[in-house]
Amino acid sequence: KVRVRFAPSPTGGLHLGGVRTVLFNYLFAKKHGGDFVLRIEDTDQSRYVAGAEDYIMECLNWCGLIPDESPIAGGHYAPYRQSERKAIYREYAERLVMQGHAYYAFDTPEELDRNRKEIPNFQYGHAYRDTLRNSLTLSQTQVDQLLKDGEPHVIRIKMPENETVHFEDMIRGHVSFNTSESDDKVLLKADGMPTYHLAVVVDDYLMDITHAFRGEEWLPSAPVHLLLWEYLGWKEAMPQWAHLPLILKPDGHGKLSKRDGARLGFPVYAMNWFDEKSGEMTPGFRELGFLPEAFLNLLVMLGWNDGTNDEIFSLDELVHKFSIDRVNKGGAKFDFEKAKWFNAEWIKRSEAGSLKSEVKRILEEKGVVVADDALLLKVIDLVKERCTLLPDFYQQSAYFFERPGEYDLAAVKPKWTDAKTTFFEGFMTMLGNTERLAGAELEQSFKALAEEHGIKAGELMLPFRIMLVGGKFGPHVFDIAALLGKQETIARIEKALA
Ligand code: GLU
Repeated sequence: KVRVRFAPSPTGGLHLGGVRTVLFNYLFAKKHGGDFVLRIEDTDQSRYVAGAEDYIMECLNWCGLIPDESPIAGGHYAPYRQSERKAIYREYAERLVMQGHAYYAFDTPEELDRNRKEIPNFQYGHAYRDTLRNSLTLSQTQVDQLLKDGEPHVIRIKMPENETVHFEDMIRGHVSFNTSESDDKVLLKADGMPTYHLAVVVDDYLMDITHAFRGEEWLPSAPVHLLLWEYLGWKEAMPQWAHLPLILKPDGHGKLSKRDGARLGFPVYAMNWFDEKSGEMTPGFRELGFLPEAFLNLLVMLGWNDGTNDEIFSLDELVHKFSIDRVNKGGAKFDFEKAKWFNAEWIKRSEAGSLKSEVKRILEEKGVVVADDALLLKVIDLVKERCTLLPDFYQQSAYFFERPGEYDLAAVKPKWTDAKTTFFEGFMTMLGNTERLAGAELEQSFKALAEEHGIKAGELMLPFRIMLVGGKFGPHVFDIAALLGKQETIARIEKALA
């Protein structure tokens, strides 16, 4: 059975690349009737950030990418937090030491620092093992004594010298490495916690993970992981790897970072992230007014396409259409204008009912009272194609619920004539005698009346709009009047003329 995992470290906000990794995992699992597991990789106590795990859960909820197994949902392979699995890992690290594939290293942080200063290009491993205090250079008796004395130590992998390791990546094809390029990574830390390298291999094995999708930045770690799978005797069970293409800065130069967002004025996090230490708020797509459907859609297009020119896909469609063969190797440039285009498309396609509560919240937050939900639904349908981000609904719909406080007089004053005033007085009388306002009929009678008054209808439309809306925006003015209704339309004309 297909089993995939998203394995974030709770160290801060979730970058859009992280959510894309979730999405690819999710799509692959659902397409193959498999399980999608969320595993929290929280073994690095120094980088642990309180609240980050809840934040990740909330992101997944917002996006609708709900894991089948997780610290919250539980599951057959629980626990799903590595800190709660601490006791599991030591045994494997020690097994590697017994087999000669790993060793105890007793160097203190000061000794390591000195080495880094004194030895050019110091890397833990190969050429330098002999100069360090470890179980490869000390006698067995010395090692036993140090362990017995409780001397702080780590366990490091012993990288072989100048060997080639290789594997088939689902996206990148054949990938190979020379083992001398990687140093002797720590597997088990002095505090007894495993490092990422050991924990990811042990847990992918114990959790029966069949396919592992992760960012390309993890590719350099692959040789270490491959050797661990081999040394632990699990090679047959190793998941198939897929290293996802990087998400690049808009100009294509390098990986998109959190700082690029701040510099270029767009979000890179899924949701607002408030960092308590720095007191800094990093804005998110959700709070900026992206719909989750649009967010997922724009993410999947960063590195994938279905082979046609189609760009708009719902999650259900993606589950059917997604295939890993169509994921590009090359990095994908992030384009915020394009991201907004996806959102506008999704707002346009959304049912008013699904936007209602969010739009209502936006209006009420700005002090607009929405008493009539049925009216709100009609308003949303009328203006949604003018909105790119959800907060745009404020400007586009507030005037349906409150009369304009200010008018864009500059747009009408210079050309105002008494004849126009007379026209609007006549128009009000006409409205008063009309049973029900309907956009198309209203437009006809407006134009006919203009002709009677000898004024071009075109010259009266803008003033009419300013009277109803306050400014030069919004949908077709007769549709606005129809929605406002007869009483309100008359009242607004009256107020504006006064
Ligand atoms: N804990 C790693 C991270 O934070 C997971 C990498 C992987 O999926 O193997 O990205």
